[in-house]
Parts: sequence; C-alpha cells; structure tokens
Amino acid sequence: MVVELKKKKLSIAGQIGMFIILLLFIIVLLVWQNIKNIHYEEVNEIEETPNYVLKIDYPIVDNKRINKEIKKYIEDKRREFILAVDGLDTIMNEPYDFKVNYEMNTFQNINTIHIIIYSYTGGNHYMRDDNVFRYNIDTGENIDINYFLEETGLEDLSKIAYQYVLNYFDDNNEALNEEWIKEGTEAISENYRFFEFRNNGLAIRFIPYQVGPWSMGEINILIPYKELKKIVKPEFLNIENDDVPVVAENPNQRDLSQFKDKKLIAFTFDDGPSGASTKKLLDNLDKYNARVTFFCLGSRVGNFKENVKRAYEMGNTIGSHTYNHLNLFKLDEEGIKKEITDTNIAIETIIGTKPIYIRPPYGNTNNDIKTTSGMYTILWNIDPEDWKVKNADKIADRIVDKARDGSIVLLHDIYMTSVEGALKAMEILEHDGYAFVTIDEMAKIKGINLEILKSYYSF
Ligand code: ZN
Repeated sequence: MVVELKKKKLSIAGQIGMFIILLLFIIVLLVWQNIKNIHYEEVNEIEETPNYVLKIDYPIVDNKRINKEIKKYIEDKRREFILAVDGLDTIMNEPYDFKVNYEMNTFQNINTIHIIIYSYTGGNHYMRDDNVFRYNIDTGENIDINYFLEETGLEDLSKIAYQYVLNYFDDNNEALNEEWIKEGTEAISENYRFFEFRNNGLAIRFIPYQVGPWSMGEINILIPYKELKKIVKPEFLNIENDDVPVVAENPNQRDLSQFKDKKLIAFTFDDGPSGASTKKLLDNLDKYNARVTFFCLGSRVGNFKENVKRAYEMGNTIGSHTYNHLNLFKLDEEGIKKEITDTNIAIETIIGTKPIYIRPPYGNTNNDIKTTSGMYTILWNIDPEDWKVKNADKIADRIVDKARDGSIVLLHDIYMTSVEGALKAMEILEHDGYAFVTIDEMAKIKGINLEILKSYYSF
C-alpha cells in the first residue's frame, strides 16, 4: 500500500510552538526517569581494635524514616557485639569480627533493603542476623508480603512453600524435621520477609535456623508464577513465559468409568520407541483391554514414527525420556532445557501435541530440573530389571509378585523379551482383577491433581 504524505508548511510561530512542546516532553520524561531511579549513597565504615574488627556497609536512601530504622538496627547490634567481646581474650590472636552487608532490590515502586549482619563472638560459628526494610517509594509506607498477595494468599503461599522446602531437603538428601519446616513456613508475614520477584518466579529465602539447622545454611526456593495465579495479585505476576503443561485430551480417550472397581497398574516403557518389539506390544494391547505409557527418546521417535503415531491414536500416553538419555545432573540449565525442548518438538511433530509427562533418565531429577521442564515427573515402584534378565517368564513373575493397586512398572520396549514379559504379566493380572491404564488415566481415575515439583512413584 502506498501512503501519501501531505506536506504542509508550518509558520515560524508554529515551528517554535512545536519545539516548545517537544522540549516540555523531554523534560517531563527526564523528571519521570529520575523519580523511578532509586537514589542512594553507600556508607562504609571500618573500625579496628586489637580485639575486634567492624566492617559496616549500608545504604542511605530517599526515605528519612527508613534510614533511621536501618541505622538504629545496626547500632543496636553493634552495641551488643562490642559488649560481648569487650575485654574478652581473642582466640589465637584473631580479632572477633562484625560485618554488615546489604542487598538492595527495587521491584516496580517497592524498594527492599535486606541487611545481613555476621558477628563472631567465639563458639562454633558466626551468628547471623537478618532484617529487611521494605517500603513504597512513592508513599514511603512500609510494605510486607501481604501487599503483593490476594486476600487468602498467605495461607496458600505457605502451603506451597512448605512443599518446596520439603522437596529441597529431599533433593539434597538432608534429614528433615517436619515440625521445624511447618513452623518456619507457617502463614505469618514474619516468615516471608525475605523474598524477591524475579523474571521466572517468586524467590523466597529462609534464613539459617528458620526451617532447618545452621549447617543447612540459607534455603532458597523459587516458585514459578504459574503456581501463584490466585495467590499473588495479577499486577505482580509475570506470566509471559508461562507454559503450564496443557493436558491435551487424547483423541481416543477411553471411558474411565469401566475401571471404577478395578485395581490399576500402569505399564511404562522407556528408551524406545523401537520397531518390531514396540509393534508387537501395540498389536496385543487390545487382548487385555490395556493401554500403556511410552517414555520415548527424542532421538528415536523420528525413526519409528508409525509406531509412535499408532500408539498415540490407540489412546496410549506418549511421554518424554529426554533426547539423548543423558544424566541430567551433569548438564547445566541450558543443556537440560535442550534435552527437554528437542524431545517435545520431536514428539509434537508426530502426534500434534507436546508430552506433559517426563521420566528423567536414571530417575535423576531435582527441583531445578522439574521447574525447567515444567512437566510432571513420573518414576516407578516396580522394576523387574527387564534389561538385565531378558527372560519373558522371569520378567512376568517379578511384575506379578510386586503388583499392587496404583503401581507403576518400569520396562523397556526395545527388548522383545520385555514386551512378551509385560503381556504375560497382563494375562495373569487380568484374572486377579487388574486393569491396565496409562499414567494419564490412572491420575484421572484416582483424582490426583498432579504437581510439577513432585515425583510420582505410584498412585
Ligand atoms: Zn532409560
């Protein structure tokens, strides 16, 4: 399309008028920019005596009341420290010390100053005191976590935070004390003083001793915005990059009411797809009114497109087993992302929808991997070690032995013996009142609301 510009000559007065308007606009813009920037100066004090060292850094901001409060807090702690060490003999000629650090963070029109004081007055370790000063830059008033939350937000946030902290202990193989964690994550604003809104979620810090022993140090959790939808007020949610796994209904979803009084087992097949063995499995599922779950390798789905497409169209679930079957613990965040994204794209190319279930190779996962994938993590509770025994009867026996309602069986459809073993087990278990369902079906029948940060071993 051609646009014609009409040229009009402005009078001299008109030109001057335009210039003044432009100038005013620039001035307003500059003033506005200045208001939005936080002005502060940093105070750095050092004091050394033969028996102690003080090193104090803190900011002075455009808020007299806040400056006074910060100063008083530091002064009080400093006095306590000097009282404690004055006249004490130093240990090994090392002076006692007192350090004040701060972290400042501005989010929208809220400024947060987190003061951390480390003091050593003898004993096994440093003492640490944390305090936070958070205020509205425009009004000067104090702000706490409730400012950002919906009415019952803190209650809900506390429940999620509790789960995240539990997972943190789990992932780090630390012994946990549930009561301690419960108390430290309880729905009181005092427990949620140290937080920060980041690009990818709400970061909460639990200071040493808050949810666990000193040796655990500070515990940081990051809750993705997609989990905070009715908890954090919408104006503080940054959910642009949010991709909650969409449960795409399988086109051949079965009528689940038929399984109401059955014991359920989910057979899952990793490391495939494959050719003849995967085909044999698909050929025989109808005999047992069975549907199963395939955790496919992204690198293989393109080689056996027909089987993947057919499996999906039959109503089986297609999940991800990552692209190259690497140990995710040994990859950085970019590497993990690539393993997951490449697989999702490869699967979507064939079945038209991305998988929402993932089985990380070797079952290796943690909160970071789970958050990065944004998928539901499915592990297992029955492992017949099919890849090792390669004997259909033995595999079937091992499955039947351990079968319970809600079990998830780990198998590999790249071995014919595994497929035959699975079919044999189905033959036996069917007589025992079992039905064979996908992960998706099992979660639905059992009414489980899946969560990204959990690992599911059985249902
Ligand atoms: Zn595997």
